[in-house]
Amino acid sequence: MPELPEVETFVRALRRPLVGRTITGARNDWPRHVVVPRPDELRERVTGRRIEAIDRRGKYLVFSLSDDETLIIHLKMTGHLSVVPAHTPPDPYAHTVFELDDGHELRFRDPRKFGRVYLVHDPADVLAPLGPEPLPDEFTAGELAARLAGRKRVLKPLLLDQTFIAGIGNIYADEALHDARLLPTRRSDTLTAEEIVALHAAIRNVLALGIDREGASISSYVKADGEKGDMQNAVAVFRRTGQSCYTCGGPIERIVLGGRSTHFCPNCQR
Ligand SMILES: [Zn+2]
Repeated sequence: MPELPEVETFVRALRRPLVGRTITGARNDWPRHVVVPRPDELRERVTGRRIEAIDRRGKYLVFSLSDDETLIIHLKMTGHLSVVPAHTPPDPYAHTVFELDDGHELRFRDPRKFGRVYLVHDPADVLAPLGPEPLPDEFTAGELAARLAGRKRVLKPLLLDQTFIAGIGNIYADEALHDARLLPTRRSDTLTAEEIVALHAAIRNVLALGIDREGASISSYVKADGEKGDMQNAVAVFRRTGQSCYTCGGPIERIVLGGRSTHFCPNCQR
């Protein structure tokens, strides 16, 4: 599933072809893609709207449109966005498509169909439950400590909880916990002040690295242009089960935690 760095990579790639364009139509052949409004109403409401800005909140892409409309897309498992000339052969997996005034279209390709589209006046209708963004300076170690206080949760599932911090998924949770030298099974209320500082730094380090490497092409993720990211070549533990830890040389282990595949070094992580 695309996580914060993969979604950020899409946002950065889409700004140039899309900001300033006007949407001239929309097509949808999988009504469940569109949560609000009704799919036929989506076409009516987006047509004629200008794309003013594209940003990211957690794992959501947020397109600010003219007339106080906001288009929000979650890529979920296999979602992919690209801008192509409208005459490009149809893609049977592009279930939602936005037509543009320059002869191009924004295609939301989604083979597994778990992706979601929202068109709302108030982005908070969709985004309000999300926890803080981890990369801005306002997200300090003190803020993390405050959010941890009173929570008694296992660390890995807590990091995956989008209401705790927005944007972290399975890859970057495992990588952050390894970087912080914390076991994924640790309880959140057992962390020392030093360990919280280390976790804060680790979360930001691995996400920034993921953005720098333009995402991890480990399962289906590729960039908007179809090319692979490079983060898969920089992971320390994710899907490296049985391979040597780069720090201690011991084998990386895999367990299932909260239903999610979890990778760690039992020697380096405490
Ligand atoms: Zn190790």
